[in-house]
Amino acid sequence: MYHMTMMTAGPTQVRENVRMARSRVTTNPDEDIAFCEYYKSICDKLAKFFHTKNTFYILSGEGILGLEAACASLTEKGDRVLVIDNGIFGKGFADFVKIYGGDAVLYTVDDKKPVDAQALSEYLKKDSNFKYATVVHCDTPSGMLNDVEKICNVLKEYNILTVVDSVSASFGIPLNVDKSQIDILCGGSQKALSAPIGLTFLGVSDKAIQAMQNRKTPIASFYANILNYVGYYEKKWFPYTMPISDIYGFGEALENVLNDTQIFQRHEIIAKATRKAVETAGLKQYINEGYSNTVTAIVLPEGISDKELLQKMRNQYHIMISGCFDVLAGKVIRIGHMGENANVPDVSQTLAALGDVLTEMGVTLKCDMRKVFLNECQLY
Ligand SMILES: *Cc1c(COP(=O)(O)O)cnc(C)c1O
Repeated sequence: MYHMTMMTAGPTQVRENVRMARSRVTTNPDEDIAFCEYYKSICDKLAKFFHTKNTFYILSGEGILGLEAACASLTEKGDRVLVIDNGIFGKGFADFVKIYGGDAVLYTVDDKKPVDAQALSEYLKKDSNFKYATVVHCDTPSGMLNDVEKICNVLKEYNILTVVDSVSASFGIPLNVDKSQIDILCGGSQKALSAPIGLTFLGVSDKAIQAMQNRKTPIASFYANILNYVGYYEKKWFPYTMPISDIYGFGEALENVLNDTQIFQRHEIIAKATRKAVETAGLKQYINEGYSNTVTAIVLPEGISDKELLQKMRNQYHIMISGCFDVLAGKVIRIGHMGENANVPDVSQTLAALGDVLTEMGVTLKCDMRKVFLNECQLY
């Protein structure tokens, strides 16, 4: 197989040292105290990175497991849950709430703009009887960035627990969990952290743990039960055998992030330059404001098939970008410029190839996107 430059909206490219870390000799993670210490050291680094006293846990399962675990652990039959929806992942939380018997109340707003915390505050004045609320930091299908700090602070005025899906924003967008008053932060390994797929992490507040412990009915899951992790370090015991190689890779990727003092600036420069190139070419972005610096969603020009375009990108240029799904299937394509993908050579190559493919498919572009991109990057 030839090399494919992966510029999708996650999974992202994985650096060699992370791949190598996954091939280290392994120990028995159930028996070896050193593994438990290593696991805890990564969790502590996550807490420090996200500026919080909350406790972090890394669970074996892709990003979705984190979202499900938050809902499974908090939801009891009949609990009212506010599902803040301005995108596909936002709305998707309702499914998890319902699976565990909760009453998911959708707060659905314009999917082309970030959630307006002020308007949410007005809504809550009339109805605020919710056990918890869910909100997505970056709704990846549209590339929407929500101001979770403002949103969660409004929710907290009404004592509502806050669950934030930051799977595709964390490590690319700054986030202060304590200032934002986030009770459960959900993240994943395969987006801006740029470790392989397979792990989710959760940053959980004492309040959230108390809510789980105060339930009248038991949590209806084992794998998605956050309480099973509580006290693992004191007990030197995990609910199931930890995927040690995945965790070695995760730890190495986290070191890469921690050593990269320019990580947020780099995401910002590359994202801004990408948006500038796309707009200058006469292409349209799906959203009107709230652009996330981790992904850009571009509206497919009239009559262009996403499948054909993505195939040409792969076959002719060996570059993989993303299409979309659910209500945006066939409507947008996405460039993931997060984590290891957020580098000038790869993004400029991607834009050049995209320009060539669109031209070949009959779209007239108003500029050379690669040139505009490179020029913009130099302005910083
Ligand atoms: C990627 C992602 C997840 C995890 O889901 P996938 O199965 O990897 O698609 C969850 N939430 C968001 C916002 C994501 O971008």
